[in-house]
Amino acid sequence: MFKNLINGEWLDGHGVSRNINPSDTRDLIGEYAQADAAQAELAITAAAAAFPAWSLSTPQQRFDILDAVGTEILARRAELGDLLAREEGKTLPEAIGEVQRAGNIFKFFAGEALRPGGETMPSVRPGVGVEITREAVGVVGLITPWNFPIAIPAWKIAPALAWGNCVVFKPADLVPGSAWALAEILSRAGLPAGVFNLVMGRGSVVGEKLLNDPRVAAISFTGSVATGQKVAAAAVARMAKFQLEMGGKNPMIVLDDADLGVAVNAAVNSGFFSTGQRCTASSRLIVTDGIHDRFIAAMVEKMKGLKVDDARKAGTDIGPVVDASQLGQDTDYIGIAKSEGGKLAQGGQRIEHNADGAPGFYLTPALITDTTPEMRINREEVFGPVVSVIRARDYEHALALSNDTPFGLAAGIATTSLKHATHFKRHSQAGMVMVNLPTAGVDYHVPFGGRKGSSYGPREQGRYAAEFYTTVKTAYTQA
Ligand code: NAD
Repeated sequence: MFKNLINGEWLDGHGVSRNINPSDTRDLIGEYAQADAAQAELAITAAAAAFPAWSLSTPQQRFDILDAVGTEILARRAELGDLLAREEGKTLPEAIGEVQRAGNIFKFFAGEALRPGGETMPSVRPGVGVEITREAVGVVGLITPWNFPIAIPAWKIAPALAWGNCVVFKPADLVPGSAWALAEILSRAGLPAGVFNLVMGRGSVVGEKLLNDPRVAAISFTGSVATGQKVAAAAVARMAKFQLEMGGKNPMIVLDDADLGVAVNAAVNSGFFSTGQRCTASSRLIVTDGIHDRFIAAMVEKMKGLKVDDARKAGTDIGPVVDASQLGQDTDYIGIAKSEGGKLAQGGQRIEHNADGAPGFYLTPALITDTTPEMRINREEVFGPVVSVIRARDYEHALALSNDTPFGLAAGIATTSLKHATHFKRHSQAGMVMVNLPTAGVDYHVPFGGRKGSSYGPREQGRYAAEFYTTVKTAYTQA
């Protein structure tokens, strides 16, 4: 039984969650303790008690701890990557890459602990000085989704600790393994008891407790729009600071002048890799008339060569869908798209058993052509290996279609025209814009986040993370 970490101690829960391998549903990875609301409260109490001392810890102390955590994660990337692939279903190279990213993030924020910055300036009044500094916010509640089981926790926990906050971390129910492994590393890194707490449990129990306890000063949430709306309502009701990263319906435009190989590689990568389960996945391909038929033919050809199999097997391009419920959502949307007039050009087949006969949640990547902008497949997030294609007349039409969405996380364009690439970077209504690159797959040292219905509040990652994890103080001194 893998336990929760509360006030420096490993505690049994009040229920158990079974962590199942989606590549082979006979494989039980482990049983993980589920906390109840009282245990979540215990963790908040511990974090609140630890905050006064931790918020005044030295930058050197915080650097040393975060740097050591990063070093251990990087040293164990193969083992942790294997666990991640086993519980979430992304391929082994993708999973090891995610672990590498988590290690890099801890090292980046270790450095940020040494660079807190600040400003001094003269007052407008004679003899008065002004200092502008940043301070820790307090106890932060961190709530994460299942699709990046170690990178998203890392990009919330590392900046929170770097700037002197105490953490209560609630991972997604589906993937407790990577979260627990990260917590175990943190538990040995030299943090005082209560500074970091792991509370695995249900969103409606542990998550709600974090949203509603007045001692939780700030909540950072990544997940679905529906849950994000609950987080926002609860946080506003008690004036807590909050930050939301949610869904996407990310467009990728392919213009007549695109390099066909570049466009196909970017679309296949960002549409289907990680089983399409990335918030930044390109799920809407907007293709101009002159290249449309050639592009579809090349996509279909490329997709036929993709191997859907056990996530941890060498040579697998696409692992399973994460669980039965997500699989049901994916196949439902393929049905909805067809019923609305879309044409299934390739894939979308359920595979019950992989090449070795193991039962798993496999689905071949699906390409749906002949869709129109108002169809549900082009408006709602599927969160699986399902990509739709919309035909556009020209660049201006494609740009308008790309922005015609309630979401605004990432957007891409494949073109050899400097003019269109430059115009698109300025006029796309997305937080992250890619030219001749997949919309998914971003750097760890620069801001991450979106606009419109995709995100709310300050950006995550890079130096910009300070906006959320610190609060600004302006001090005046009369000499
Ligand atoms: P989800 O909203 O179901 O769950 C996210 C987290 O919220 C989980 O830990 C869950 O237990 C918790 N939760 C559920 N109900 C809660 C409640 N009432 N109060 C507090 N917490 C609660 O999302 P998911 O299915 O785990 O993740 C998939 C979604 O995440 C997709 O929409 C995807 O686009 C999004 N996502 C966004 C980003 C981003 O940065 N924009 C990154 C990854 C995933």
